[in-house]
Amino acid sequence: MSDNQITAYRVLARKYRPDSFETLIGQDALVRTLSNALELGRLAHAFVLTGVRGIGKTSTARILARGLNCEGADGTGEPTLNPCGVCRHCRDIADSRHIDVLEMDAASNTGVDDVREIIDGANYRPVSARFKIYIIDEVHMLSRNAFNALLKTLEEPPDNVKFIFATTEIRKVPVTILSRCQRFDLRRVPNEMMTTHLANIAKAEGISVEAGALTQISRASEGSVRDALSLLDQAAAMGADKIDEAAIITMLGQAETGQVIAILEACFAGQTAEAVNLFLSADAGGAEAETILADMLDLLHQASLIAAGASPSDLPEDQLSQLRVIADMGIAKLGRAWQVMLNGHRELKDAPSPKAAAQMVLIRLAHLAPMPTPADIIKTLQEDKTPASPAGSPSPQAWQPQSTSPQASSSSTQASQPQSTSPQATSPQATSPQATSPQASSTLPADAASSTENTEQLVAATPPAPSANIAAESTAPSFASLRDIADYFEAQNEKILNARIKRHLRVVSFGQHKLEVVVTGDNAEDLPQQLAKSLSAATGAPWLVSVSETGGGQTLAEEDVKTQNKERNAAAELPLVASVLEVFEGAKITAIRQNGEGEDAPQAPENIEAARETSN
Ligand SMILES: [Zn+2]
Repeated sequence: MSDNQITAYRVLARKYRPDSFETLIGQDALVRTLSNALELGRLAHAFVLTGVRGIGKTSTARILARGLNCEGADGTGEPTLNPCGVCRHCRDIADSRHIDVLEMDAASNTGVDDVREIIDGANYRPVSARFKIYIIDEVHMLSRNAFNALLKTLEEPPDNVKFIFATTEIRKVPVTILSRCQRFDLRRVPNEMMTTHLANIAKAEGISVEAGALTQISRASEGSVRDALSLLDQAAAMGADKIDEAAIITMLGQAETGQVIAILEACFAGQTAEAVNLFLSADAGGAEAETILADMLDLLHQASLIAAGASPSDLPEDQLSQLRVIADMGIAKLGRAWQVMLNGHRELKDAPSPKAAAQMVLIRLAHLAPMPTPADIIKTLQEDKTPASPAGSPSPQAWQPQSTSPQASSSSTQASQPQSTSPQATSPQATSPQATSPQASSTLPADAASSTENTEQLVAATPPAPSANIAAESTAPSFASLRDIADYFEAQNEKILNARIKRHLRVVSFGQHKLEVVVTGDNAEDLPQQLAKSLSAATGAPWLVSVSETGGGQTLAEEDVKTQNKERNAAAELPLVASVLEVFEGAKITAIRQNGEGEDAPQAPENIEAARETSN
């Protein structure tokens, strides 16, 4: 009977099963809540412990049972969180032979009869201990009738009876039961804490093991102390002098983290062959295809955390610096890679050969990962477009200083200006004083229309120099094209006016505060008048909008359609867009947007920069 005579090997998980809350690691929150309840004398009649398997639910239940029944070494103790471990109750419960503490596994005793037995027993006083304690493991497995029978006892529990339920699937436990229990969620033990725990045990057991090996075991255990100790047992049984990381990796069927990072790096660099070769060598080392992809997903997650400015989990410094390089790809690319990997990981299950499927995922990722993101594509398109802008048509950048007519910059020197830049020169017959006369059906705000000389004067007197205009947006807007005008009114939220300008006007000539147009389409006769009024109000200077019967270019709406088609075709021919279209089957270019377009305010240069930064 003596412990000394038992020389048989005890597995670590049993040998180091915690027998007090002090040796139960990683469950500080639970211990705190319990000790508060104990101090206040507000212990519930029923407890439910939930958490993943191997995390210590049964151990916790037993410690709790001991604490509830412990009477201390001298036999006078009260319920405690620190059971003495020497009194008869503590010892009997540790050996699972206490007459008042009954353990039942609901997985094997699911019926109402089993529960009936408990309920009947609950009506008798405890034989020797303070409380009669029922520990029901995997309580969610009980049948509906068994739950109902149990519920009756829980509704009116005898004073000296406690129930401790444990379950991995709390959602399967009826709410009626849960509402009568004090609930404790057991947390996964964090990697660092687990590693330290393992190191202590390895030391106590005389097992020589590398720190890296312990880290691998901790990670593989996913927070379950029991799993971690079983793995340490397994590793120790391999009989090596010193357990190294590589041995653990082989044992776990995992690729080394460094290897997986290398695969990711190759993918992001577009080195397909390299990625596949690295995968094959990891595979040859015994790593499972599924595990490699899962590890890649994990690393992408860590890299994204770094990219987002959050701190990743505990990784060795060399791996961390490798991950930082990957993080530099930017959140957009990392997110896209995550999508590819996640889909690939899912597909692996259905694939006849997981190995082949994993390689396909890597090929796909290596093809896609280095590609620019949509934001990059737009940027490239913009840079592509700028020099190629057709000279004749009013282009978006036409409102820049040099294209505004120079006479406005120095009204006093108008006489000395070269002929070609004067308003009249743009289209003599159209913008000449005669054309603005009432007979020529010109439209002019009443206050400005008194005489043509007057108009000329007012035009010549328009104040702001173009450069000042661009620099300070608070001054009156300046327009160099009908497009500018339309954009301005759109920015002013004058959507209808903007739409009418785009649809109904063909520009014959455009001068300083003068505009000659052909009106097209129905119900637009009033548009020139309205436009002249709105422009005058906007600029604080009179505008002259005259109507001509013939001539004029395309409407802005027509231009837009043409530009869009052109951009779409041009975009589709860009190699990077072509590959995107190829990779994403059925993808179409539906819209090409300028950076920042859709915002209400005109794009200031620093906004563009900011937009670029965030898109990276
Ligand atoms: Zn005790």
